[in-house]
Amino acid sequence: MDPPLLEVTNLSWSVVNTAILHDINFAIKPGQFIGLLGPNGAGKSSLLRCLYRYTKPGCGEVIFAGKNIWQLSADEYAKQVAVVLQETPSQFNLSLYDVVSLGLTPHKSLFSSTTKKDQQIIFQAIEQVGLSHHLQQSFDSLSGGEKQRALIARSIVQSPQLLIMDEPTSHLDIKYQIQLMELAKSLNVTVLASFHDLNLAASMCDGLLVLKQGRLVASGSPEQVITEKMLSEVFGVCAEVSPHPQSQQLHKVVPRITYFYGYEAGVNHV
Ligand code: ADP
Ligand code: MG
Repeated sequence: MDPPLLEVTNLSWSVVNTAILHDINFAIKPGQFIGLLGPNGAGKSSLLRCLYRYTKPGCGEVIFAGKNIWQLSADEYAKQVAVVLQETPSQFNLSLYDVVSLGLTPHKSLFSSTTKKDQQIIFQAIEQVGLSHHLQQSFDSLSGGEKQRALIARSIVQSPQLLIMDEPTSHLDIKYQIQLMELAKSLNVTVLASFHDLNLAASMCDGLLVLKQGRLVASGSPEQVITEKMLSEVFGVCAEVSPHPQSQQLHKVVPRITYFYGYEAGVNHV
């Protein structure tokens, strides 16, 4: 069996005496596409920040490819882990090409210039995300969906082992949400990403992690995790879970959630 690429053990994190993350344990195998779910404020972004080495947890360890991430240098870690965040900071008039080329930074020494081969990698990544027409457009003037795809292109150039994304689909229309998920899947890297759309996560992810008030309350395959009980207890909604009509074609059970309206889970019963 493959050893995990990422392993989180007994991770807890507090801010000024307020516990935000409690004793979190899970492991991700190489090649898996894992969705992180949970209501607003559950701790998804806080957990991801501990994993991309922005926040140091108060307790516990994050092990990447057998090593504690805090024992790796920031550069070493950046070569192997790419991050796409929900809020895209202004890139001060950098062109799309320039932003994507930043993916090379962890692999370059300070004054080394971009080679022909580097340029090829950058063009290829931009083509892969379907943005070749926008090459010289300023990053800030791209639409939300184009920006997210540009950041994925930057990650492709970075060629990480692990791609961490915090709500990458939140500002996108449904077509681009599906497209972005399929693109991320096609990269053949290990992915851990937080999502709000439970149906999309259930259909695209190999495994799901569910946070509630800073605790990991469910993990496993979408079929194991997406249950009416979980939706009621964690998200406070009343819903029916049935197999997605494409399940047979996809050779796996894809849960499909149908929400009921006008009911508060645990108060009214359908
Ligand atoms: P999610 O991404 O699931 O919506 P967050 O991780 O952003 O949740 O937040 C989880 C909780 O931790 C929230 O109550 C938030 O206010 C709190 N929190 C996160 N970061 C900090 C911080 N730096 N200082 C104080 N509270 C924080
Ligand atoms: Mg968040």
